[in-house]
Amino acid sequence: MQNNPHTTLVTAQAPIAAETHGGRAKCLQRLVRLDLPVPRTVALSFEAVKRIAKGELPDTTAIVSQFPKGTLLCVRPSSEDPDWGGPGAVLNIGMNDKRLATLSDRLGQDAAYAVNTRFVQSYAVDVARLDPDMFDDVDGEGREGLTESLRAYEGEMEEPFPEDPAEQLAAVLKSMARAWDGTSARLLRQAKGAPVDAGLGLVVQEMALGLGHGESGSGVLQLVSSDTGLPQITGRYLSQSQGRDALEGDAAALYLSRDPRGPSLEELAPEAFDALKTHAALMRVKLREEMQVEFAIENGALFILDGVRVARSSQAAVRIAVQLAEDKIISRAEALMRVQPRTLSELLHRQVDPGAERNVIGYGIAASPGAATGQIVFTATEAQASAARGEPCILVRRETSPEDIRGMHAAHAVLTERGGITSHAAVIGRGIGLPCVVGASNMRFIGSKKQLVTKDGKVFNAGEVITVDGTSGEVLAGAPKMREAALDESFQKLMEWSSDFCDIGIRANADTPADAQTARNFNAQGIGLCRTEHMFFEPGRLTVMREMIFAETSQDRRAVLERLLPMQQADFIQLFDIMKGQPVCIRLFDPPLHEFLPNDRAGQRELADALDLPLSDVTRRIDAMSEYNPMLGLRGVRLGVTVPEIYEMQARAIFEATIEVNAKGAAVVPEIMIPLVSAKREVELVKSSIDAVAAAVRTEKEAQFDYRLGVMVETPRAALRTAEIAPNCAFLSFGTNDLTQMAYGLSRDDAGRFMSDYVQQGVFPEDPFHVLDTDGVGELLKLGAERGRGAHEGITLSICGEHGGNPESIAFCRDAGFDYVSCSPFRVPVARLAAAQLAIGGNIS
Ligand code: PEP
Ligand code: MG
Repeated sequence: MQNNPHTTLVTAQAPIAAETHGGRAKCLQRLVRLDLPVPRTVALSFEAVKRIAKGELPDTTAIVSQFPKGTLLCVRPSSEDPDWGGPGAVLNIGMNDKRLATLSDRLGQDAAYAVNTRFVQSYAVDVARLDPDMFDDVDGEGREGLTESLRAYEGEMEEPFPEDPAEQLAAVLKSMARAWDGTSARLLRQAKGAPVDAGLGLVVQEMALGLGHGESGSGVLQLVSSDTGLPQITGRYLSQSQGRDALEGDAAALYLSRDPRGPSLEELAPEAFDALKTHAALMRVKLREEMQVEFAIENGALFILDGVRVARSSQAAVRIAVQLAEDKIISRAEALMRVQPRTLSELLHRQVDPGAERNVIGYGIAASPGAATGQIVFTATEAQASAARGEPCILVRRETSPEDIRGMHAAHAVLTERGGITSHAAVIGRGIGLPCVVGASNMRFIGSKKQLVTKDGKVFNAGEVITVDGTSGEVLAGAPKMREAALDESFQKLMEWSSDFCDIGIRANADTPADAQTARNFNAQGIGLCRTEHMFFEPGRLTVMREMIFAETSQDRRAVLERLLPMQQADFIQLFDIMKGQPVCIRLFDPPLHEFLPNDRAGQRELADALDLPLSDVTRRIDAMSEYNPMLGLRGVRLGVTVPEIYEMQARAIFEATIEVNAKGAAVVPEIMIPLVSAKREVELVKSSIDAVAAAVRTEKEAQFDYRLGVMVETPRAALRTAEIAPNCAFLSFGTNDLTQMAYGLSRDDAGRFMSDYVQQGVFPEDPFHVLDTDGVGELLKLGAERGRGAHEGITLSICGEHGGNPESIAFCRDAGFDYVSCSPFRVPVARLAAAQLAIGGNIS
């Protein structure tokens, strides 16, 4: 049989590979090579199992004859990747009248009958697929329990229970092979990334029963905590002689070593316990992984049944990978490859504890990761009041607008009824690291009554406590247990190592000094997008801004802008100071002006008071400015062309700030970016006006400075016409939020309402605002990049839409030769790790 590659005795030299026999078979072979006390094992290849599923069974008598006569066997699954699962193990195969007699002599009648009864019942349920309820009436123990179980089996099957071990084994193999082919098993493993044709291997192993007159039992042990990744002997051990139940977690650690409530494994079987620790340490080094050891003890003798990768939280995953590299067991590159970029984002924020009970009352799009608990408030003002009282709150809005920014800063999380992954709430939430769920359209938001109503009619009033889980997209009632963010030393090391490998720049989208500081803390290589409009939402500034909007003449407008100038200048000085000479890309004003005007009566009245105007003037002006499609209306460069004073003021503020910071010794070369361009002429007009401001400032201040002017490519026309736009600018930054919106003709604010239907029905493989559509939008990016580079060699290319932090999009940009990506500050670590992995050359799944 050794010569049959499909049914192979596991020896040190046997031809076994994870790709042909599965991870468990390969791991057992490694343990055999390490000379560990592994029970005899036969491995069945994927091919063998495929044939079994079709009805071509191997010679099970030959398999049974590989083991000493009278041995009981177990069969376990061995899929290529242990995470893909597999059918449950079947134990004690070979149990029949004859074995019952020998086992009774060895272990005593009670134990022998118990083993036999367990086997009959599990065979009936797991192999013959009978209903588990049929054993509900079996209440006898010992001989009686076995007889009743056999009777129940034979009654259902109308045939005697099989006595022949080879026959039993054949049925077990057949049922496990078929279970792997079942629809639910297939869907489950595909959800975990398994390919459609993923194979299953099986291992047939001699049972170590963990029963005997001396110390006997079975358990698992690992050397680190699954929670933290820190060294800690943990696991569980069930001692037959002590009749102790399995324990979990820290209590189990005590039970394995020193348990105050009774004898521990350390005391019961000190030699086995020592050997177990030594074997586990050896496995860590030789298998190059933190392993959980499955073991059995029979009369004091230790058997190693299996080793599996230690289950791990995100924090533990990082710590384990870093420690393996620090101990020189794996390389740094390998440590980087072992951490999923997305797991990092879990470390950066508080999360609902994975073990906490979740009372889900609604869900939406997981727009900004992390979780927070607080009292419901329905307006930004209430959020601020709540923060002033020191009470955590959740801001619940139909959707947010620039007016809500201060409320968002005051809240601990945001929940909106409308919106998608690039809606206002989502973008701001990610920018400031605020947990956020948007597009929760399965809940009703009744602002007038200050009520949130769930799908099944449950009412949550203002002041009631809820939790927003921006990682899962769920809204929970009450305050579940939380797990704190974990930016420990291992995380910092992983980040440092990532930077050593990254070959594409990673910048951050940062609008405020606080964002910029976060970006620096995460070692972003500059700011790739500063949305300047976000600087105007401070209450003091908002009023001045509104005055500017209401100015009747260009002269009046300039006068108000004079007052905004020093404020903007101070903003830029702060940003330049924090970024310490790293590039800062400042986008000129982008949104339609009426976003700054109040849309409710009370706000309009306040504005009329502040501007000393009749209310009717205010409302008339607001009505006149309203647009059917604001996102496609008077915004971005269109404002720059039609109301040039705003861009001129911003350019002046940037240049004056540059001079001031340069005078302190830093060498700042600001980058100025024009939004929403669609035509070359727009760039020419804005460029000449900004060049004129630069010349004026140089003369007035008698100072020199450089700056780089660039274009934001976010309309399809701009992407198609980069050949004529590029010669006029130093860089092109693709704004993939608007570009996706316009390429699809799909509103980024409304798409959330039906996106999940679209994804579920396979219309879109993913939400294109979340994962870059490399086919359509990607083609525009590629065309734009090629044509831009063709017309202006050496032009800097980047993306600054939300996709910039997404591993798949980073892969796309790197392949297309982009210089950098820019994403929310809190996504910088994820982007750095993803970029490092791409440079190392592995796959990101
Ligand atoms: C974009 O459109 O991709 C972008 C970054 O700009 P904003 O999200 O501010 O429209
Ligand atoms: Mg945009």
